Amino acid sequence: MLSYVTDHIPKTTPYNRRPGYSMTPEYITIHSTGNPTSTARNERAWLTNPNNNVTASWHIVVDEKEAIEAIPLNEVAWHAGDGGNGTGNRKSIGIEICESGDRQKTLKNAAELVAKLLKERGWGVDRLRRHYDWSGKICPRIFYDNGKWTGWEQFKEAVQKELFGGDNMTQDKNQPSDWAKEAWEWAKKEGITDGTDPQRVATREEVITMLYRYYKKDSK
Ligand SMILES: [Zn+2]
Repeated sequence: MLSYVTDHIPKTTPYNRRPGYSMTPEYITIHSTGNPTSTARNERAWLTNPNNNVTASWHIVVDEKEAIEAIPLNEVAWHAGDGGNGTGNRKSIGIEICESGDRQKTLKNAAELVAKLLKERGWGVDRLRRHYDWSGKICPRIFYDNGKWTGWEQFKEAVQKELFGGDNMTQDKNQPSDWAKEAWEWAKKEGITDGTDPQRVATREEVITMLYRYYKKDSK
């Protein structure tokens, strides 16, 4: 499981990087840092570095090792480049993906993190945006190559896979899940199911037929 560190920057951070405006997020915006050497810790340190003189911030940064939350997820951060009242800035959680370290590990961590955030809110991958979608900036540039977006669709697929619970995807489709085993065996014994396709979605007529079999059996 990915390590998640909460290390908020103070509201007094200069250049209004944590304005303290409350936010009800509707989207998650994905960025990459644009810096091939900086880690999540480096990015977090930069937000409170006295030499930093820009009004730019984000909510969570993720690298090959960990995720760090710098601004609470119900407060505005300035990351989308669509202005003080832009939807990207005012209604989205900004995630920075580090460009340093092991790219595969980092992307796996990012997908896991984003899936967790979506799951907690009951959202699907349709809530994901690139920085580019708000302001046209080529960001996240890790998904951009030779004038084309590459890897963005694959990233969303990776998040989708995490949403389905990862391991479930590789489960034997001919076996019921552990939690369903007892009931499945009972239904076979009672003649309610023929015992095939435990993992397939049932149609309404199949559900009704199963209920009917049980009813007929009971009324004998
Ligand atoms: Zn960006």
